[in-house]
Amino acid sequence: MRPKKILILGGTTEARLLAERLALRGDLDVVLSLAGRTINPVDHPVPVISGGFGGSEGLARHLTSESIDLLVDATHPYAARMSANAAEASAVASVPLVALRRPAWKRVEGDRWTEIAGSEEAVAALGDAPRRVFLALGRQEIAAFEAAPQHAYVIRSVDPVEPPLGVPNATYLLARGPFAEAEERALLEAHSINAIVAKNSGGNATYGKISAARALGIDVFLFARPALPAVPTVATVDEAIAAIDHLVAPA
Ligand code: NAP
Repeated sequence: MRPKKILILGGTTEARLLAERLALRGDLDVVLSLAGRTINPVDHPVPVISGGFGGSEGLARHLTSESIDLLVDATHPYAARMSANAAEASAVASVPLVALRRPAWKRVEGDRWTEIAGSEEAVAALGDAPRRVFLALGRQEIAAFEAAPQHAYVIRSVDPVEPPLGVPNATYLLARGPFAEAEERALLEAHSINAIVAKNSGGNATYGKISAARALGIDVFLFARPALPAVPTVATVDEAIAAIDHLVAPA
């Protein structure tokens, strides 16, 4: 009997860790898919395909033509388009789907959070008075901040922001997580940051800025989580392994 084929939709640390765990077992045929946005993606221990499928129809065709037995949506919780496509394609191609999604961070005592819908609302919430703002956002989301050139920005991204933001005062940092609390605190202090705009990504890898902001009394403007399709969902790599074992158990 051929090994069961699993397609992981990735772009997250969890997707890579899951692929690593499954690759070590050697009893499954695992492929990981990336959107192809990052110039130098980190290495993955399984074959990688990149560049997308062409919507839910394209993904459904891929599931069928590649005889995929199980689809794992391990994309970032804000990759709502891809997650919707995965749910639709799974239904059309009759391939079971499990989503691996980090639960959102929960506000705790001392957090100074404001939930906002997106970048435009963040610009409004920051106000007119000049602030020193740390943008922990993707390249697509930062353009809106050109509407608020009175602020000084520190912008951290994996790939260079090209073209740079059309504001007079922006500092660019290139870095890839995880980021520990102590280094985040040092960064926030070094740049005298008094506001952070970020996503509620969940997990540990990027929580350091949240706990550092709490310790320093910094305002955090968090994007609300997008609506995601109601599909079988697990929160950790261990739970994903258990779900995979259940769904592709040998007959
Ligand atoms: P998105 O808006 O949900 O998806 C847009 C399109 O990108 C999809 O329709 C699909 O193209 C393609 N795509 C997305 N993820 C893919 C994957 N894993 N494999 C193949 N194609 C994929 O996605 P996004 O928010 O731009 O995120 C893009 C990637 O970055 C994802 O892999 C996500 O896990 C990762 N990421 C996103 C964020 C974030 O904040 N959004 C943060 C960290 C990492 P087709 O329709 O052509 O298939």
